[in-house]
Amino acid sequence: MPLSLHLFIHFSLAILSGYLAGKYFKNIKLGILIGFIGGFLIDLDHVLEYLLVFNFRFNLLHFFQGRQFLVSDQIHLWFHAWEYVPILILLAWLFRKNKVIKIIFFTLAFSGAVHLATDMIINRCSFNFYTLTYRAKHNFAARELTSPETYQENQKLKMELGI
Ligand SMILES: [Zn+2]
Repeated sequence: MPLSLHLFIHFSLAILSGYLAGKYFKNIKLGILIGFIGGFLIDLDHVLEYLLVFNFRFNLLHFFQGRQFLVSDQIHLWFHAWEYVPILILLAWLFRKNKVIKIIFFTLAFSGAVHLATDMIINRCSFNFYTLTYRAKHNFAARELTSPETYQENQKLKMELGI
């Protein structure tokens, strides 16, 4: 699937999940804003990972080639983790007396869960892959976290790119 379509699906579902949460809590504007953050800007951890690997020097082409993963041979994806979902729901419940904060935490959990489920389907990755505990257990090593085929493909790509 082309990246543009992948991102378009994330964007649409982020707005939709934000709208639905907003409608439920009777604050559609806030719902859509937080849905956009939790369901779309969650992907900014790709940028964060790139910046950390390349010492805060950014190159758009290299970013879209996914060089952050190729150079480091690691996959962190700090925001892509199912663990955040129950934590955010617990926070929503703890702050249930403050309507705005409750909506923020709940909508982050909901739109984030929709994003992770979408990534699981599109990227054909397991539930475990999208947990921080599983990735940490494997030292965030791409070799252990990706299928042997994908890892081989990436090794080939590295040779081609001269990394
Ligand atoms: Zn994602």
